[in-house]
Amino acid sequence: MEVIKVENSYKRAEKIFNLIKNVTGLDYKLNIAETSEYVWEVKYAPKTVFISTRAIDEVDDDELAFVFSHEFAHVLKKEIHQQQLNKLREKHVQQYQESIKNLKGGGLSKFFWVILYTAAGFAGGYVKGRSLNRDQERTVDELAIEITQEAGFDPSAGVKFFARDGYQARGFWDSILATHPDSMERAERIRNKLK
Ligand SMILES: [Zn+2]
Repeated sequence: MEVIKVENSYKRAEKIFNLIKNVTGLDYKLNIAETSEYVWEVKYAPKTVFISTRAIDEVDDDELAFVFSHEFAHVLKKEIHQQQLNKLREKHVQQYQESIKNLKGGGLSKFFWVILYTAAGFAGGYVKGRSLNRDQERTVDELAIEITQEAGFDPSAGVKFFARDGYQARGFWDSILATHPDSMERAERIRNKLK
């Protein structure tokens, strides 16, 4: 029975994946891994959406459609998101060079200031990059709602999907360094979007 169950997971995932893929018009392949890990991810080269059998089995059809839509939305937003990241980096380097140029004095004290600015600049850039990443995830979720809906699935699955994680209080560092917004926030945003 175990084998049949796995085979069904594959068929179910392939079917839903293809419906989403058709809406996006993108040429990506589905790569299913038989593992107990709860994971999924898009890879741009080779063009693949990776998902584990556990992730497939744990969610319903609409949620699975939302997960695939989210990954495809990343592909559709890839260029604009890369541009946003480049812009952020450019601006950041500019600010850094400006502040170094404006440093008065010289010798050892200047040397220390340069070190300090470099460290602060690095940390600041990192935090800003993470913040941008969270914003991009939000826009990807929004596009995922549209794709899910267009493929004939229930977009409120996104709410259900994120609500699975439940509320997890974030500490200070987590709230500024996390790559993704909090799951409950994502669920709430989707709920509001669908109103
Ligand atoms: Zn994402």
